[in-house]
Amino acid sequence: MSYRKIFVVEPGDKVHLDKIDPSFTGKHESHEKAMPKIQEHLARMDKLQYLLYADGDQSLLVVLQALDAAGKDGVVRHLFTGMNPQGTSVFGFKQPSKDEAAHDFLWRAHQRVPGKGEIVIFNRSHYEDVLVVRVHKLVAKPVWSKRYDLINDFEKIVSNNGTRILKFFLHISPEEQLSRFKQRLDDPSRNWKISDADYSERELWAKYTEAYEDALERTSTQHAPWFVIPANHKWFRDLAISEIIADTLDDMGLKLPPTHVDKEAIRSKYHAAEQEQAGKASGA
Ligand code: AMP
Ligand code: MG
Repeated sequence: MSYRKIFVVEPGDKVHLDKIDPSFTGKHESHEKAMPKIQEHLARMDKLQYLLYADGDQSLLVVLQALDAAGKDGVVRHLFTGMNPQGTSVFGFKQPSKDEAAHDFLWRAHQRVPGKGEIVIFNRSHYEDVLVVRVHKLVAKPVWSKRYDLINDFEKIVSNNGTRILKFFLHISPEEQLSRFKQRLDDPSRNWKISDADYSERELWAKYTEAYEDALERTSTQHAPWFVIPANHKWFRDLAISEIIADTLDDMGLKLPPTHVDKEAIRSKYHAAEQEQAGKASGA
């Protein structure tokens, strides 16, 4: 069965994250053994992104959400580096700027959705407004609780305009998170990624889990499905996400656009001399 079917949150499904094993790797035993498959998916993604861009009619929005150190940056680095920067971009959602905070919560997201032919990755997203905002009570419950329907409506507008939306929740265990924090402390090249806030946020694990479960249940739709990706093993996370993206692009019926130029007329007008030369050289 495809990972799209295995990991999707069906609309209306209840989500119990504690029942989903973050260390799941299916039939795959190791990174080495999964590598050829990952490479195959990356090659498909690269080829299909070229077609998406050339076709210029549809687009893809990938949303990455997770707790700290679950691998959002890793997914961006491992899965999208092979793609042509022309036509792909990543947007990281930080604490809203003054300008962003002065507008409705979907304003900054809407400005960044992909135009025709493009792929955009949201590293965090408009979902922060029902996650961190809810957990830290940055707005009152009557405000955040209306946002699920608003998000569904917003994503409907975007999808009706020709954008496929894939939303990934990277699911790790608290133990795996702690071990990754420790690596960030110990490895000088990763020190910049660790902060006190990471540890204090960790204490809110149960509250974040509740907020994530509600978001996954209330906003997984046919037009913008959520996938819960077991992410304790970075290689498995990459394998599953790359397959889901490649399969989705495959389904979009992408093709090179037809040429409307008269190729023969152009050849004889601008390349006649070359063709004559080539003809002479081949003795024709
Ligand atoms: P990072 O992804 O590690 O660069 O951190 C970005 C930070 O910005 C995270 O702590 C997010 O929770 C926070 N953030 C993103 N969006 C919002 C938002 N709408 N309101 C408050 N904090 C946010
Ligand atoms: Mg962080």
